[in-house]
Amino acid sequence: MAIADWVQRQLAKAPPWSDEQFEEVQKLLCPPAPPEEFMHWRVRLYCGHICEVTRLRRHERPDGGVTDKERCAECGLNPSVIVAFEPLVSG
Ligand SMILES: [Zn+2]
Repeated sequence: MAIADWVQRQLAKAPPWSDEQFEEVQKLLCPPAPPEEFMHWRVRLYCGHICEVTRLRRHERPDGGVTDKERCAECGLNPSVIVAFEPLVSG
């Protein structure tokens, strides 16, 4: 297992990342969106439960974009497909 030993030695030599470095890299990879870029939806899930979800405003539908599913907070069904939705007007 010479290769495994070598990998272990290389890993041991590498300096550990600080929390700051880690956060910097995370920001570069996935910059956090400001709150005003989000909107809230009331959705009906496949299991029949209603819940509220948050999506980026640039997606026109809560079931478009990243995902068309949610974990149901009521019954725990995961994933539960969004079958209907309406925008929640915040205020
Ligand atoms: Zn449910």
